Amino acid sequence: MKVYVSFWLPEVALERLRQKHTVVSYEGEGLPSREELVARLKEADAFLCVGSRVDKEILDQVGPRLKIIANWGVGYNNIDADYAAQKGIMVTNTPDVLTETTADLSWAILMAVARRVVEADAYVRAGQFKGFKPFAMLGSDVWGKTIGIVGFGRIGQAVGRRALGFGMRVLYHNRNRLPPEREQELQATYSDLDTLLAESDFVSLYVPLTDETRHLIDARRLSLMKPTAFLVNVSRGPVVDEQALVEALRAGTIAGAALDVFEKEPELTPGLTSLTNVVLTPHIGSGSWETRTNMAHVAVRNIMAALEGKTPPNLVNQPVSR
Ligand code: NAP
Repeated sequence: MKVYVSFWLPEVALERLRQKHTVVSYEGEGLPSREELVARLKEADAFLCVGSRVDKEILDQVGPRLKIIANWGVGYNNIDADYAAQKGIMVTNTPDVLTETTADLSWAILMAVARRVVEADAYVRAGQFKGFKPFAMLGSDVWGKTIGIVGFGRIGQAVGRRALGFGMRVLYHNRNRLPPEREQELQATYSDLDTLLAESDFVSLYVPLTDETRHLIDARRLSLMKPTAFLVNVSRGPVVDEQALVEALRAGTIAGAALDVFEKEPELTPGLTSLTNVVLTPHIGSGSWETRTNMAHVAVRNIMAALEGKTPPNLVNQPVSR
């Protein structure tokens, strides 16, 4: 059968697919155009989707051959999974393998913004470090503070476990409260969102992007945060109203932000890059060689299962039979 891959992936992950199927990889710059995608998907049995958007319009054009869209990533807001289900197409994602790596990056940028690591690095490179100054380049403490984790699933919990090592108080918010024994194990306290925002020194986001979470952090919610607090977003850009965030950062109603994802990625809201109290990274949450390769292995495993007529391990929708 034929598998279309929309971006370069390590051969070590694709070789298993090649043993049984024909693999066609997009070799152009960036991502394939919508026209190219439709043309390729019309003749594919499986799609290993790396960053492409698959909406209703594309799904209406792909024809009956496509059985599975295996997303390379845990967040699958780029794919209309419900509509794919109506068309009888399975959609899968890559949970778990990227949890710890993404939690690590969250901490890297949280620490970077709190302790001004990026600014300090630029200061040294610019030759401004002329000797130790007791009150230069001071940041905010992380240890012992309160972290509020919004979306306390796999990644949120991995971030929370790390916070305990810093002696922090952990608040969390989900739609569903965890069982008491799990809360106890994670030493985390459930909070409604507004209270979490008001009490946290660091607010860190790990919700999926859905209709409910789009602009979850808007101007009103930003205004609830302490002027000394930092916002960390390693979930999806549109979870935060980026214009409202820039305004809050400019006005100093919050202390800073660390962002791995952006509302109109890869475009940035004007004003963001001229602020010194932000740390910006280019969507590298899961970006270690090991993890990004493992994500490809998981996507391949899902495709192999689907093409063998089995239910793939990481199915996220309920396709109607066709
Ligand atoms: P997960 O295990 O499904 O966790 C998501 C959590 O969000 C759940 O605890 C869920 O709990 C909560 N949630 C969902 N909707 C909510 C809402 N409306 N309000 C409050 N809480 C809500 O997912 P994960 O594996 O931790 O991944 C989380 C997200 O991180 C992914 O969807 C992806 O977008 C993002 N991510 C980004 C990167 C990166 O490179 N920057 C890497 C990996 C993942 P309830 O259902 O109880 O609400």
